[in-house]
Amino acid sequence: MNNTERIGQLKKDGILDPQDLGILLTSLTGEEEQYLYDAACEVRRENYGTDVYLRGLIEFSSYCRNNCLYCGLRRGNEHCERYRLQTDEILECAEQGYALGFRTIVLQSGEDLWYSDEKICSIVSKIKDRHPDIAVTLSIGEKSRASYQAYYDAGADRYLLRHETINAQHYALLHPQEMSRDNRIRCLYDLKEIGYQVGCGIMVGSPFQTVEHVVEDLLFMKEFGPQMVGIGPFIPHKDTPFRDRARGTLEDTLHLLAITRLMLPDVLLPATTALGTIDPRGREKGILAGANVVMPNLSPAPVREKYMLYDGKICTGDEAAECRRCMEQRIRSVGYQVVVSRGDWAGAGTE
Ligand code: SAH
Ligand code: SF4
Repeated sequence: MNNTERIGQLKKDGILDPQDLGILLTSLTGEEEQYLYDAACEVRRENYGTDVYLRGLIEFSSYCRNNCLYCGLRRGNEHCERYRLQTDEILECAEQGYALGFRTIVLQSGEDLWYSDEKICSIVSKIKDRHPDIAVTLSIGEKSRASYQAYYDAGADRYLLRHETINAQHYALLHPQEMSRDNRIRCLYDLKEIGYQVGCGIMVGSPFQTVEHVVEDLLFMKEFGPQMVGIGPFIPHKDTPFRDRARGTLEDTLHLLAITRLMLPDVLLPATTALGTIDPRGREKGILAGANVVMPNLSPAPVREKYMLYDGKICTGDEAAECRRCMEQRIRSVGYQVVVSRGDWAGAGTE
């Protein structure tokens, strides 16, 4: 089988042998690359047309009790300026987002136990009370099943928790000993069973990542069946143990986005801020490789530069309205349009 045939089969069946996936990830020529992107765009179009969904991201706390080796918010980073948004500040951001046409709000933070379950539930339910037509996504890390259930009962619709890598040895090279791949995966299955639309995902080019790991990740995602997949390049942060590591590449990220689209045709797939950070038109290129979601920042301008997961993060100086406008224009420039909609998963059985 050659690469064109591999892409054809992946598009038709949504799956390939591990060996062929590995070859696809490592040997695409320029022409084959374009063929892959075109196939991914065709599949995305069949499921979502040319609509691109907006998620307004509110980064509400930079405190984190974890010490993931790759992340600028890790507790061991003494140079990270920590902040917490109060409930009324978060509600104000959400309000502003609603006025700008966002119908999904993503609440993201480090793992910050200052926000009790009660607090999180109250924030979620207040947003939902004010705007029943908004979807609320949480991205606040590993919790107990009971906590996840409580947030869900309070009205949370979706949860983003990248699995980071399905390979336990690789996981152990990216995280301190007190964290485990098994607990991460337990969380994902709990979330799914509770009824959330769930997002998993990985960083491309994270330290020690091999092609075999990425193939394992793809097969895991195929089996897990997420509604959303977050894929962005790893970018080093100067105050972490991985400061001297290479960043993930644009090409590898685009290949992986396209392959993910072919394996999970109706998945919600963001063109991430990290992708926009390593290339000035990275997000547009992500859309052209099969992504269909963008996540402009809604956090208050003064705290944005404190939420530094990695170096060089873009859009830290802008206001929410400016981000919204900029994004709309970028998406239009490649022939797609952002829509005012919750942008739920198009697969069977939800909503
Ligand atoms: N604390 C939560 C949410 C915030 S971190 C959690 O960990 O799930 C959100 C995501 O940012 C992580 O899942 C990780 O994949 C990504 N991230 C962290 N550090 C990064 C880096 N240096 N480069 C690229 N992405 C990074
Ligand atoms: Fe904390 Fe998330 Fe960063 Fe890990 S990736 S240190 S859990 S914010």
